[in-house]
Amino acid sequence: MASGRILLKNDADVAGIREAAAVVERALAAAAELVHPGTPTLRLDQAAEAVIRDAGGRPAFKGYRMGGDTPPFPGSLCISVNDVVVHGFPSAYELREGDVVAVDCGVELGGYFGDFAYTFPVGEISAEAQDLLDTTRAALYEGIEQAGAGRRVGDIGYAIQSYCEGRGYGVVRDLVGHGVGKRLHEPPNVPNLGRRGVGKKLREGLTLCIEPMINGGTGDVTVDDDGWTVRTADGAPSAHYEHMVLVRRGGAEILSSYDLIESALATARGESLAAPAVPVASES
Ligand code: MG
Ligand code: MG
Repeated sequence: MASGRILLKNDADVAGIREAAAVVERALAAAAELVHPGTPTLRLDQAAEAVIRDAGGRPAFKGYRMGGDTPPFPGSLCISVNDVVVHGFPSAYELREGDVVAVDCGVELGGYFGDFAYTFPVGEISAEAQDLLDTTRAALYEGIEQAGAGRRVGDIGYAIQSYCEGRGYGVVRDLVGHGVGKRLHEPPNVPNLGRRGVGKKLREGLTLCIEPMINGGTGDVTVDDDGWTVRTADGAPSAHYEHMVLVRRGGAEILSSYDLIESALATARGESLAAPAVPVASES
């Protein structure tokens, strides 16, 4: 999938990628508002697609071809519930209390691509499921910390793998992160496992999707007869968080953002974000 040569991005490219990522963020926030028990996952997809099209973008996953005889992907979002790792189809399935649902979104806008993902709890989830989400998310940032110029792809994978395996989780090996920007999937591949100091060197201007897919049990996966839906081999739940980063000297800069998604979640929980933390008035 990620064939061809590595493309380094200039400032104009990065600006275009940020704009595409901002549309992804809004689409995922629209989906986040609908994550509660009883919502068919197709409704998340419809809400996200409306946001993308209103912004003048194109859902990059819809109609995406994997090659071979596999039919094109039917949705604007990949919606992967519980033991589905990634590439789940939006459907009539109604979310249930205790589910974990990974939502991945891709957008093409003005010739640039955004692609990132978030895993949501549905209502109250088990302590075990929450720990899986927390670990996967933390592993994403462990990986990002390794993505400065001069490091290697294996440094990212090593950080993610050691963090998750050290906590008893399974790292999915069959699916990987990737370069992104002018195409949805560019080289290099960015596996979630690896060895320190090994693999392609990270150069300034490289834009990557780092995306740990972490399972509650084994890292082994199977694919359904639809050719897309990836499941954990043992039926344990799985989580997926993805950010887009720009490789820079001194460290990676995150080009995507979870801010709007988390505002939507906080609003759904009835938390007030607007209240100032300290009194506004001051004396003297
Ligand atoms: Mg993605
Ligand atoms: Mg991706």
